[in-house]
Amino acid sequence: MNELFIEAKYIISGSKCNRIIKNGGILIENDEIVAIGKVEPVKSLVSGHDKLDRTNHIVIPSLVNSHTHIPETLLRGICDDEKLMTWLNDYIWPFERRMTSEDAYYGTLLGCLELIESGVSGFIDQYFYAESIKKAAKEAKIRALICPSVFDNTPESGSLENTWKHVSSLLNNSIPDTNQLVNYGIGPHAPYTVPEEYLYKVKELAAKNSLSIHIHLNETKSEVEQSLKDFGMSPIEYIHKLGLTEEKILAAHCVNTQNKDWKIMKESNITVLHNPQSNLKMTSGIAPIYKYLELGINVAVGTDGNASNNDLGMIEELSTAAMLQKHLSQNPKVLDNSQALRLGTINGMKALGVQSQGITEKSKADLTILSLEKSHSWPQNNIVSNIIYSSSSSDVSDLIINGKLVYFNKEHQTLNKEKIIEKCSTISERIITEMGKIKK
Ligand SMILES: [Zn+2]
Repeated sequence: MNELFIEAKYIISGSKCNRIIKNGGILIENDEIVAIGKVEPVKSLVSGHDKLDRTNHIVIPSLVNSHTHIPETLLRGICDDEKLMTWLNDYIWPFERRMTSEDAYYGTLLGCLELIESGVSGFIDQYFYAESIKKAAKEAKIRALICPSVFDNTPESGSLENTWKHVSSLLNNSIPDTNQLVNYGIGPHAPYTVPEEYLYKVKELAAKNSLSIHIHLNETKSEVEQSLKDFGMSPIEYIHKLGLTEEKILAAHCVNTQNKDWKIMKESNITVLHNPQSNLKMTSGIAPIYKYLELGINVAVGTDGNASNNDLGMIEELSTAAMLQKHLSQNPKVLDNSQALRLGTINGMKALGVQSQGITEKSKADLTILSLEKSHSWPQNNIVSNIIYSSSSSDVSDLIINGKLVYFNKEHQTLNKEKIIEKCSTISERIITEMGKIKK
């Protein structure tokens, strides 16, 4: 049996991330938290458990990155200063067309290194080469909801027809099992890239196998305008009309939305995957998530791929999200510290398909531990404020996923960092040379 006792200076507990336990203890057995509270009573239950002294640290529920294109780590920094369509057509897609399944595998391993170092225990992905991503995620022992892209002209399968053949055969017998760390969903790229007949096929397969549909919706103004021209309605209205909203929808972005969209989002099983830094960088705008939250719509936070962010760290993403919502609403009271933390942790877990009440008894033992050694962590007048606004991903000292330490004292326990970094640098250089057009 895997048994661990953690003693910590602070624990952020409870399903609302607002219960602070000073000088606390957490007892883990197998994949579950079995006791939490002040250190002494929890300590009295310890018998032969491994002990982790984290008395100069904070334990928070693990972060979840709810929208990634994980092999895009290989594309980091190749294009920072272009609009979405130029960025896609001239840089991202030409690079991706040259990627092999082995490249995607190593790119994913690099992504997993980065996620783990940032205290992220799970990610929701949309990309091709799903089997390579799955293999890497399993090696990393990280949670993943991998949603193979339904998209034309992929390096993996070529045409949309062949991509569909591949994706549908991969997912045909794939029913998500929440006891597994890695599961499949399905990832139609967006309504502007996937024709109606394939969106119907996606819906049918998702309904048959209870798959989450991970899709980009209402990202840019021009995308919404084009959709109004083509279909007489917004992308959200369009997928609703096609019946996709009868399934669980994981909707990346939802930046440019209106009342009609909100009504659909409120009444359907849609989780908004909010990517504030990517939306700012691509000049797509600011998604009004404070309104979504007021309406009771589930919102989780992600980074988007490394080509548009360019990192996978979630703490920085949460502070950006909070500051932007205050600005957008002109109300500093929106998205308080505990709520911001909840979006990046418990809401993300829910989007992944894992029911978690944060750091409480009977919840999954997914814990992120932050060191208090840096000056920016002092004084500790408001611990949750310090987490959101003062700390950074580099404060993460340890990460526990499903009861197992995958990052211990800043050392990876599942992956060979040196080898992965070397391999990925070689791959990236090879593809950029083949492209021959990247401005340095
Ligand atoms: Zn995306």
